[in-house]
Amino acid sequence: MKHVYTLSDLRDPAFATEMPKAKLAVIGYPIKHSASPQMHQAALDEAGIDLQYIRVEVEPGKVDECFTEMERLGFVGCNVTVPHKLEAMALCDEVTDDAKALGATNTIHFKDGKRSGHNTDGPGLAQAILEDFGKSLTELRILILGAGGGAGRAIATQCAREGSPRIYLSNRTVEKLEPIAKSLTDDYGAKLVYTLSNDSEALTIAASRVDLIINSTSLGLKEEDSLPIPAEALNGSLMIYDAIYNPAVTPLLADANKIGAKTSNGLSMLLHQGAISFEFWLGQRPSVEAMRKGLGK
Ligand code: NDP
Repeated sequence: MKHVYTLSDLRDPAFATEMPKAKLAVIGYPIKHSASPQMHQAALDEAGIDLQYIRVEVEPGKVDECFTEMERLGFVGCNVTVPHKLEAMALCDEVTDDAKALGATNTIHFKDGKRSGHNTDGPGLAQAILEDFGKSLTELRILILGAGGGAGRAIATQCAREGSPRIYLSNRTVEKLEPIAKSLTDDYGAKLVYTLSNDSEALTIAASRVDLIINSTSLGLKEEDSLPIPAEALNGSLMIYDAIYNPAVTPLLADANKIGAKTSNGLSMLLHQGAISFEFWLGQRPSVEAMRKGLGK
């Protein structure tokens, strides 16, 4: 078994005979770092479902061809990650309300010649916050850093759907936030939605008015990255969630730990969005414990 497959591999007549159990996958570009295979394989094995979950690297613009090959090979479905979540949604015959609300799909089910699209990122984040902090989004005032990105937008929408009483949206490119804020208020009835840039002063004021800060910027993935919010803006009564899970402790989480804030990283979001995807494909809840072990958590 290869670490990463390509569209050419799927097209190769040898694939069907050499990999007859490969019926689930994650597609993205690049994809080699995805932790989804070990998480899903652990749940499949635990449930006694004799299928394999693989990584497939697919270039932008080639998602339709990939879906066609997967359908020909009898795939049950796939997860979709960066940069394909919008392209995949446009290729679906039907999408769930969650996918419609979040404007993207991260899970596809191939069934009866149809492609069904779902989005499990928002509900997965809600589960993660409940598990890690013992609070539901409904009761939390929240500051989302990077709310203009794909993950940030999904998180913001989920907060509004669950009725978070106050939502601060921050983004480096602040212009991206107006349509998102409008959708939160018009489509989901969010009452108090504020938009701000990533200016230090504005972030410090917003941080003093919330219970939970979620980092959904990509800052923290690389060692040389600056902090997504100044350390002085943090205080020990905050909950800080970083959507990044590799590294497990980003500089933001390290600073928050030092002052006694409650912290957690994005592994729990990955875990819970994955569990919801599994159920969407296979109609049964996976063992979340097995998935957690598969992730080494
Ligand atoms: P996007 O590329 O869609 O968004 C990136 C976000 O980061 C944007 O808001 C962007 O701002 C901001 N950003 C990037 N560079 C900088 C910078 N130098 N200074 C300030 N802001 C910056 O990516 P995604 O939304 O898909 O992913 C964002 C993060 O969330 C990643 O770290 C990813 O690993 C994580 N993630 C975790 C998941 C999980 O299951 N745990 C699921 C999905 C994502 P701007 O709009 O101005 O460019």
